[in-house]
Order: sequence, then structure tokens, then C-alpha cells
Amino acid sequence: MIAPPLATSWVQSQSFRDVLYIIAFSLFIQGLRGLAGPTTAVRGNRIAAVGMAIAVIATFLNPQEGNWGLIALGIALGTAVGVPAARQVKMTAMPQMVALFNGVGGGAVFLISWAEFRLTGGFAHTATYITVFSLFAAIVGSVSFWGSNIAFGKLQEIIPGRPISFGSAQQIVNLVLVILAVAAGADIAAGDQSEAIFIGMLLCAALLGNAVVLPIGGADMPVVISMLNAFTGLSAAATGIALNNPALIVAGMIVGASGSILTNLMAVAMNRSIPAIIAGGFGGGGAVAGAEGAGEHAGTVRSTTAADAAIQLAYSNRVVIVPGYGMAVAQAQHAVRELTKELEKRGVEVSYAIHPVAGRMPGHMNVLLAEADVPYDQLKEMDEANPEFARTDVSLVIGANDVTNPAAKNTPSSPIYGMPILEVADSHSVIVIKRSMNPGFAGIENELYYDPKTEMLFGDAKSAVSEITAELAQI
Ligand code: NDP
Repeated sequence: MIAPPLATSWVQSQSFRDVLYIIAFSLFIQGLRGLAGPTTAVRGNRIAAVGMAIAVIATFLNPQEGNWGLIALGIALGTAVGVPAARQVKMTAMPQMVALFNGVGGGAVFLISWAEFRLTGGFAHTATYITVFSLFAAIVGSVSFWGSNIAFGKLQEIIPGRPISFGSAQQIVNLVLVILAVAAGADIAAGDQSEAIFIGMLLCAALLGNAVVLPIGGADMPVVISMLNAFTGLSAAATGIALNNPALIVAGMIVGASGSILTNLMAVAMNRSIPAIIAGGFGGGGAVAGAEGAGEHAGTVRSTTAADAAIQLAYSNRVVIVPGYGMAVAQAQHAVRELTKELEKRGVEVSYAIHPVAGRMPGHMNVLLAEADVPYDQLKEMDEANPEFARTDVSLVIGANDVTNPAAKNTPSSPIYGMPILEVADSHSVIVIKRSMNPGFAGIENELYYDPKTEMLFGDAKSAVSEITAELAQI
């Protein structure tokens, strides 16, 4: 540690900086409350950003801060990369960006721990609890960094979405890596100051991050992303304890707690168990029918036109719209809202069935539909929507695929087996709008398209929905 300079003004005192940190994390908590709803989310983000600015200022006031050149370089690089990336990212690429940013957080945490190891001569004369928290941060931060990179690769489709694993040996591999990383950590905590052991511990954690995320199939990515988010939060909180930085402790715990709650919600929604995710043995375990399987199904597909779809919808009493990732890609939410209005004018009862993992991020469909001013009471969560399909005349599936795939119920070897789906096949008829017979994110064929009740309207979601609305106006 660098010795503090003697003369410091009151603004540099520990108490004043602590007050600033308390203000900062109060703003984080207030900001998080704002994120609970789409109308207050932007304000919530801004409040949290002000909190972060105050926390950064408080850190700069620390008289031990010295290397201003390096700090300026870090800020310049971060701004040059982060600001254009955040401004230019498309809404549909947001999950990849979140995975990357999350990974950067984990990476920063393990690098800080490494730097502390070197600065303190291998944690010599460091209180044991601080050493333990630093080592915990190093291991979990490294797992999170590498795991998030793999998640990014899968979401960006640089790495195949299908599970990649050592098969039945996967859990043993994971267990050995955990034991090695913890043993190296314990050795350092017991007083070994070898940097080689420290690097070995980081390497085991890095391999573990890869080994945990690679076997997870596309459809199960939402659970793993929120889990990695929780990991980064917990590791940041541990760093906060090691560095005695209250804002980092609270911010890390907020991310850790909210990430853990989200992981649990996602796991329940996907009917998965969290220990099974961590052990790397989840996702059905069976062979994946890849994209090449699309179109090889023995059944017949019936296609329809916008005019016929409009007639069917116009003479329905009840229509349920099932939006998915394709609606986000096509930015069709406003067109969908117009279609709803046109149907309601004719006395058709319209609602929206929202699957918890539809799209590519939690709440994706809710955000898009809120942007198009769809009344909140028309949005039905899966549990509420499913019993209603039996009394639905037409289910209009717009760019949704995996979340409607009956293989989740009928095919035990499917990677999505066990995941609850929207039971659109229970309705009297189904119209699916998508561009082709290509599979969804999980890379598997959808039996729904071969159901005799189903008709496919091939085309871009926005144009197809607008065409239906135009046809409706003529009826
Ligand atoms: P899917 O990814 O299963 O399917 C989307 C469908 O939209 C595709 O089959 C595609 O077919 C169609 N599509 C794409 N572009 C357009 C367009 N312009 N117009 C019309 N259709 C289009 O989406 P779902 O929402 O059903 O399921 C989400 C999947 O993503 C699940 O597997 C989920 O687990 C996973 N996931 C979810 C996350 C979350 O947090 N929500 C995070 C990460 C993954 P075609 O190419 O033929 O048009």
C-alpha cells in the first residue's frame, strides 16, 4: 500500500468520503426502484448514474490515489469504447452487450485482486478475512469473466448455441476445477505467497467459467446470464470488503441479490434446478436436432395469406397475440398495436400472452409492448394465459418459436424438454408469422408448425402484421 500524504483537507477525510459513498448507494437503491417499470426506468438509470459519478468522485478524493495518468488513460479508453457501443447497440443485441459488460465487471474484480496480491507481497501482513474476501473475489470474478464471454459468443452466434460438453464426465471436470481453485486459494490464505499458485487459481477459475457455460443450450441461456450477473455482483461486494469501500459493497450486494432473485425466477420459469445448472448437467442432456433438421419433418405445413388471416381474425370472438424475438427484430410492436385497435373496433377481445423468456432478455416483450402503449392489463403472464387458450379462437404467434414448441412437453430428448411453454395448440386455430421454417434460438424444429390447426404466414413480422391490418380495414 502507498503511504497517505500528510496534509489532507476535510474533503479527503475518510468520514466525508463515507458520507459521499452513502449518498451514492442510496441513489443506486432509488435508481433500482425506478427500473421496476418501463415508464420510470430511464429516470431510474439516470439516478443510479449520478450515484455512480458521486462514488467515483469519492474514490478520487482518497489521498492514497496517486497514479492520475493511468486513471485518465482508463477513463479515456472506457469512454471511447463504452459510449459509442452503448449508443449504437440495437435493442436486439442488448443481451450480448449486457453479457460483455457483466464480464468486464468480473474481469475488473479478478484483476484488482491480483494487483492487491502483488502490492501486498502475496497478502503478507493482510488481515485473514481480507485475504479470504480477495481470493473469493478473484475466483468468482474470473468464473464470471470467462463465463460471460462464452455467453456473449453464444448470443452473438459466434459459438454454436447447442450444448458443448464432455458428456457424463462434465460434472467430474467441474468438480475437479472447483477443488483445485479452492485448494490454491486455501494455500495462499494459509500464507503461501507464490504468484504461480495465484495464477494457477485464476486459470482453474477461468476453465471453470468455460466449463459451466459451454454445456448450456441456447434456450437455457437466460438462467445462466442472470446467474453470471449475480456472480459478478457477489465478487464485487467481496472486493468492496477487501478494499473497505462501502459503495462497492452495497452496489455489489444489490447486483448479487437482484441477480440471484432473477436467476431463481428464470429457473422456475424454465422448470430448471439451479444446482443442476452449476453442475453443468442440465438442458435435457439429449441430442439436439440442429438447424439442419428444419424442413425434414414428415408432416405438412399449410401456409396462408394476409387476406385469409384477416378474415379469420375479423370473425373471431377472442384472439391471443403471442409475441417473440421476431417481433423485436422486425420492430413490429407499433404495427401489432394498430392491428389490436382494428380488431377491438370490431368487438374482438384481444390479449397478449407473455412467456418469461420470450425475446432475448427478461421483460423484453413487456418493454416493447409498453413502448407501443399496449395497456398493461392486456398482457397476460404464462400461468394466466395458458388456461385461456382453450377458449381462444385464434392464437396469432408473431416471431415466437421456442416458447411455443410442444417438444418441451412431448420429446424427452429435446434440449428444451421440461420448459413450460405457451399452450397455443389448445386454441381453435393458430396463425404463425415468421419468415421461413428456420428454428429459433434453441436450434430445434417446432412441431407446432405441422399441427393441422396451424397456418404459416411467411414474411417479416412488421410487414405481415401491417398487411393484415390493411386487409381488415377492407372487410
Ligand atoms: P426464438 O428465438 O425461439 O424464435 C424467434 C423466431 O423469430 C425465429 O424462429 C425467426 O424465424 C423469427 N424471426 C426473426 N426475425 C423475424 C422477422 N423480422 N419477422 C418475423 N419473424 C422473425 O424466439 P422466442 O421469443 O420464441 O424464444 C426466445 C429464445 O431465446 C428462447 O429459447 C430463450 O430461452 C432464449 N433466450 C432468452 C433470453 C431472455 O432473457 N428472454 C436470453 C437468452 C436467450 P425466421 O428466421 O423464420 O423468421
